[in-house]
Amino acid sequence: MSENTSHPLVPKNIEQLNRYIAGKTIAEVKEAYNPAKIAKLASNENRLGCSPKVESAILEAFKEIQDYPDPIARKLRAAIAQKNGVKESEVILTSGSESLLSMLCRTFFLNKQNAITANATFVGFFVQAGVRGIHLKKIPLTDDYRFDVKAMVNAIDDQTKMIYLANPNNPTGTYINKKEYEWLLEQVPEHILIVADEAYYEFAESVEDYPKALEYDNDNVIVLRTFSKAYGLAGFRVGYGIAKEEIINNLLKTKLTFEPTTLAQAAALAAYKDDEFLNKSIKVVNDGKERLYRFFDEHNVSYKKSISNSVMMILPTEEEAISFTQKMLELGVILRRINAFGLPACVRITIGIEEEMDHFEECFKKVMTNS
Ligand SMILES: *Cc1c(COP(=O)(O)O)cnc(C)c1O
Repeated sequence: MSENTSHPLVPKNIEQLNRYIAGKTIAEVKEAYNPAKIAKLASNENRLGCSPKVESAILEAFKEIQDYPDPIARKLRAAIAQKNGVKESEVILTSGSESLLSMLCRTFFLNKQNAITANATFVGFFVQAGVRGIHLKKIPLTDDYRFDVKAMVNAIDDQTKMIYLANPNNPTGTYINKKEYEWLLEQVPEHILIVADEAYYEFAESVEDYPKALEYDNDNVIVLRTFSKAYGLAGFRVGYGIAKEEIINNLLKTKLTFEPTTLAQAAALAAYKDDEFLNKSIKVVNDGKERLYRFFDEHNVSYKKSISNSVMMILPTEEEAISFTQKMLELGVILRRINAFGLPACVRITIGIEEEMDHFEECFKKVMTNS
């Protein structure tokens, strides 16, 4: 059969979509370059690993592996509700917050409605919106790499359904402060859903003028969090959303019934209860950031101060960013160029443990003296 061009097999919005390209895996780098040591500092994971309590929890949960998972993750949901002072019915668990972003895109939009976000933010949202053919108004960051809250509000029109804020932002590590967030809340009409993606909440919450979206108690805000970053469970895929029941109940209709899996729920619950490991992880990141700032200052490298677990380095040109990242990769330091996030001359460095930061500094010096 010949293809009917007005009814193509693959719709245009899918054909034109760019796939999410993840950071390189350790196995890929070993195979390609076989460096003596590898530091994976590309994907904002927890380089300390995860809570030691997770292993026995998943072994226990394995006994129930023949049964379908609890579709609303009752135990985990209760723990999250309790810690955050919300009702259990205001919490939804999903396979990573990426899944929740996907659900938000397929639940709230009518044809032709748009979403507003920044031009340099979490690329996972660009991908999920693209899948649904949602028009994105990508507002340029300010000159100092921050969300331009005023310009975002100015971009609201009749067809705007959602405002997506990653706070703190990935890949820049910058944040919308309390004053800006409060102003935004006053300006945005109630029928527009504000998505406050707090994937790095645990690293940010102690920053004085960081607005914790939950504390404002709005009907049209959903807060997104994840177990992939501070809790070190990226491989399990667990994220959650907190919002009023009207939002959660409708999301429960569009969710894949049995996400997250039984083992993932058990792992997340064990991790969630282990404050000691969490605090240790936060300390590793804070110490590592201070060390990296000093190192960059000594070497006259431009960067942005960050309240997440990564630091963005600003190179003079895209060519230099490509060459720097490639040379570091060959020496065994996996970094993330963030061209897909909208910043072609920038490179994102996840804060690792001490040995990894040693390796980063050593390789950095080698690369810089040889070029
Ligand atoms: C890493 C990240 C996510 C995705 O987390 P998962 O729970 O692993 O899907 C979502 N939003 C932002 C801003 C992130 O950086």
